[in-house]
Amino acid sequence: MNETMTPELSIPLTGLKTYPETTQFAVSGDFFEAFGQEEVLDAAVQLTVSLDKEAGGFSLDLYFEGKLVLRCDRCLEEMDWPLSFSARYALRRASEEETETEDGREIIPLEPTDKCFDVSQLVYDELCLSIPIRHTHPDGKCNPESLKYLTDKPGGEGEVMDTPFASLKDLKL
Ligand SMILES: [Zn+2]
Repeated sequence: MNETMTPELSIPLTGLKTYPETTQFAVSGDFFEAFGQEEVLDAAVQLTVSLDKEAGGFSLDLYFEGKLVLRCDRCLEEMDWPLSFSARYALRRASEEETETEDGREIIPLEPTDKCFDVSQLVYDELCLSIPIRHTHPDGKCNPESLKYLTDKPGGEGEVMDTPFASLKDLKL
């Protein structure tokens, strides 16, 4: 395969008889792999997409429930990052009004011919944004063996030697 295949989480926009229409997807580690995101080691997220018809287009609600597996910034071991949040968007057929948000929802333009909508980019962005810059195990839950290795290693990532306290530490030893 020459092209990078990003996963498609597509929902139909036409031909629906009842609203809101909900669709469920399972987001796994493969999803992040396809996007080339290496920070997420694995994932088990249940995604519920709720689409409701309204004037000018649709409201789109994404509900995320599950966990990501990340690498702990402190001990570098795998850690579960539980998550549970929702995100709201508005899908709009091209209109004259140039508003970016509506009722707190980010507006996404639709082409008049769009018959379905792929939420995978939104899902990827929302999940990546949910990861804090620094993510660690709760205090005391890090792998003690890994921490020992990291702090024993001279000049290792776990140590900052270039501080006034570095010399004090030497005196103590
Ligand atoms: Zn840790």
